[in-house]
Amino acid sequence: MSTMNAVVLDEWGGALAVETVERPDPGPGDLRVDVRACGVTRTVENAVQGGLSADPDLTPRVPGHEFAGVVDAVGADVDGFAVGDRVVAYFYLTCGRCDACRRGDTNQCTDFGGWYGVDRDGAYAESAVLPAANALPLPDAASFAEGAVAADGVATPVHVCERADVRDDDTVLVLGGAGRIGYHLVQVAGLRGAHVVAADVVDDRLAHAETAGDHVTAVDASRDDFAAAIRDATPYGDGPSVVVDTVGDLDTLREAWTALEMGGRFVSLTTHHDRTFDPPMKEYVVKEASFVGSRYATKDEVVRAARLVADGRVEADVGDRLALADVPDYHRRLRAGRTAGMGVLEP
Ligand SMILES: [Zn+2]
Repeated sequence: MSTMNAVVLDEWGGALAVETVERPDPGPGDLRVDVRACGVTRTVENAVQGGLSADPDLTPRVPGHEFAGVVDAVGADVDGFAVGDRVVAYFYLTCGRCDACRRGDTNQCTDFGGWYGVDRDGAYAESAVLPAANALPLPDAASFAEGAVAADGVATPVHVCERADVRDDDTVLVLGGAGRIGYHLVQVAGLRGAHVVAADVVDDRLAHAETAGDHVTAVDASRDDFAAAIRDATPYGDGPSVVVDTVGDLDTLREAWTALEMGGRFVSLTTHHDRTFDPPMKEYVVKEASFVGSRYATKDEVVRAARLVADGRVEADVGDRLALADVPDYHRRLRAGRTAGMGVLEP
């Protein structure tokens, strides 16, 4: 029996610890991937806290889903993959047969099997077993760390820009513009020709947001006159035509809603269970405003994201590089909000 090191969660909301476990063998339809880079992110922290599933039958569990690596074993009944293939992982365990899957909207699967790293073991490990249906091609020109960022951190912004149909005549306000999703969204919106206003708090985060490109203006979201400051930062003073919320702070949302241009689109990415944002219905009509939800990304958008980082059109915001032993403490830093860039585990 072969063994490996992995970070194991004992129960939802419990402790993460490095353990020596059995190296998994790929079952039918699965690949085993030598994990080269895995994001250690707030999305995983939310899963660790039981925010996606709190089913006690699913623990102990190896978390981690935003990863890239090299196929090192191929299970039975798998076509189209070989040992040595570079792959990036898709987060959702989808059925492949429902109407949504058939039309390519894999993030809307109606026979949803849950999340990789939640409903089955993930990639905080030296080796990970991944359904072949969740393995997507990683171009040679992308590093594994860039692939790990692309898996969710760039793919989610690509999906947001599709949902909001971002174009060259838009000004996109990104709430949380220095964050993992925000920083890459600022870049992807810029590729479509849009102006971007990046809102965040604290000087070093605002300065970081502005490094994403010449099309970006940073605005401090903690200002008392935030709505007016947003309007002033848009090129013609009309306010943003698209607002994307990656934070879920209700005071900030109200200010952004006030600043939204006529005909604007408001996109929500946050999944707080206990917060409600409910402007008066009249305001939707008067502004012809749209409120749009955006959920992760399709498989096609993950492939596109990997190509954007591979050819340098999007710069992956890689922060700390971590060993398995660093992961439990890094989750404590995520909880405290004391990280910059995306932490990348290189097991
Ligand atoms: Zn489906």
